[in-house]
Amino acid sequence: MDTSLDVEKQLVIAEVRRFVEREVMPVVHDLEAHDTYPLELIEKLKRLGVFSATIPEAYGGLGFDFVTYVQIVEELARGWMSLSGIVNTHVLVAHMIASYGTEAQKQYFLPLMAQGEKRGGLCLSEANAGSDVQAITMTASHVGDEYQLNGAKLWVTNGVNASIFAVLARTDPHARPPHRGMSIFLVEKGTPGLSVGRTFEKLGYKGVDTAELLFVDVRVPASHILGGIAGEGFKHAMGGLEVGRINVAARALGLAQAAFNDAITYAQQRETFGKPIAQHQAIQLKLADMATKIEAARLLLQKAAAKKDRGERCDLEAGMAKLFASEMCQEVTLEALRIFGGFGYTKEFNVERYYRDAPFMLVGEGTSEIQRLIIARHLLHQHKIS
Ligand SMILES: Cc1cc2nc3c(=O)[nH]c(=O)nc-3n(C[C@H](O)[C@H](O)[C@H](O)COP(=O)(O)OP(=O)(O)OC[C@H]3O[C@@H](n4cnc5c(N)ncnc54)[C@H](O)[C@@H]3O)c2cc1C
Repeated sequence: MDTSLDVEKQLVIAEVRRFVEREVMPVVHDLEAHDTYPLELIEKLKRLGVFSATIPEAYGGLGFDFVTYVQIVEELARGWMSLSGIVNTHVLVAHMIASYGTEAQKQYFLPLMAQGEKRGGLCLSEANAGSDVQAITMTASHVGDEYQLNGAKLWVTNGVNASIFAVLARTDPHARPPHRGMSIFLVEKGTPGLSVGRTFEKLGYKGVDTAELLFVDVRVPASHILGGIAGEGFKHAMGGLEVGRINVAARALGLAQAAFNDAITYAQQRETFGKPIAQHQAIQLKLADMATKIEAARLLLQKAAAKKDRGERCDLEAGMAKLFASEMCQEVTLEALRIFGGFGYTKEFNVERYYRDAPFMLVGEGTSEIQRLIIARHLLHQHKIS
């Protein structure tokens, strides 16, 4: 627990931790095994106020800073990474509206989102445009005081269950470079022409739907362009992804922490050659490396979150935190699996789930390769020689 936070924030983090231990951990195995969307847990998360965590108080939220929010996410991911995914995508969309939306958009969308009744989904990626966001082909044509959206979005987390989608589309298909002609639309579920296509069966990240959304002549009022002005969408998307990367780093941290906690407990229970495996130096070295990397990721994450809270762009810090935490998570979950020996490969223990959930951290909100490119671009800018 971060004792530098004020008492109210510490209490909420402690409450989320208790919720995870009492309500999530006992049911996660069943929900994940049956790939069940966790409706009951979501109801409880609503009551805890988690969906409103970073929404400003003026719009019905708790108004927490990101330094606090990432600790809530870490707790959720310690119980079930999928649960934090549902919250993260919602918080990202709410953050985009709070940061870039018009006053009318904030007043209409944010109170609904703060209650958690309407949850958010992010629609950037398409079948042929993931890392290369500028390659999207979805169009939004101006028709009177509306826009008409046509195209398909892929990989939409919470695509079946969310109600408010932030959708990136080309408002000017001739703009060069293409990002100058893009806008984000706030589209509500139930709008005629919007439907769910296929959903994906995945290696991990179970219980959360990952869907294709189809847009056929979907009419959206011009007033639902994020920020009210066309052509700003790419900038808004990149701003949102900063939060997305902080989100994923926090998720990876929680997942790795869960793997470490299980591993250090098991290492003291399991005996080989007449003593607990924790007494073998080779296992101690693993535990020391795991804990050190987790702590390093936590510090990088806190640095990125603190910079975001100061209102500064933090692409470099968020990129570093996301890159390090997701790669660390992959390593730590594998080491935990090794410590469990043969049992680690079975569904008797949670480490098997952690190991399957970890790779998504390497891909979501931009792959490790893309994070490295972002980091390098910023470093070259900072260290430019004349
Ligand atoms: C479970 C899941 C949930 C998701 N949820 C969402 C969501 O809610 N909303 C959303 O919009 N998207 C979502 N995504 C999409 C995700 O953001 C993309 O999958 C990710 O950005 C990678 O894009 P891609 O899959 O098209 O891979 P590609 O871009 O095709 O990349 C393939 C490989 O090439 C590498 N590569 C690409 N370009 C370069 C380069 N310039 N230099 C070096 N290497 C490069 C990549 O790192 C990767 O290894 C989700 C994806 C998954 C799997």
